[in-house]
Amino acid sequence: MSDLTDLYQEVILDHNRRPRNFGPLPGSNRAAKGDNPLCGDVVRLQVRVEDDAIEDVSFEGQGCAISTASASLMTEAVKGKTVAEAEVLFDRIHQLLTGKLDPGDEEAVEALGKLQVLSGVREYPMRVKCATLAWHTLHTALTDPGSTVTTEDGSD
Ligand code: ZN
Repeated sequence: MSDLTDLYQEVILDHNRRPRNFGPLPGSNRAAKGDNPLCGDVVRLQVRVEDDAIEDVSFEGQGCAISTASASLMTEAVKGKTVAEAEVLFDRIHQLLTGKLDPGDEEAVEALGKLQVLSGVREYPMRVKCATLAWHTLHTALTDPGSTVTTEDGSD
């Protein structure tokens, strides 16, 4: 477990220091905003969807290291995926971070790849919403574009 914790901290620090796909996205056709008032994290997501595939995605906003790193990892992970694949990933990440992913489901665990490090956040329960924020925002951008999703409704 300590290896995972080290890796978790390394990846979070790296992505917080050098967020990937950060900035406005010209030509985007989906957008959503995520708000986590518990921590003060704000994520604004822009997506360009073409032929049911996520051609490009970027984020802006400000927040803690975990929310920034999670958004950065999310954009890397979903770029090039179909909308349906991204939704499956959203479900799995959500299960992973809320402790509902069956560790025996090797296929699901393996499909997460590098995103598995996010499970390190489970050691900091107050921060789970920081890590899931970008994913909820993506889900909203794909299913209800233009909306704002907030963690205040109690869901994680
Ligand atoms: Zn946060």
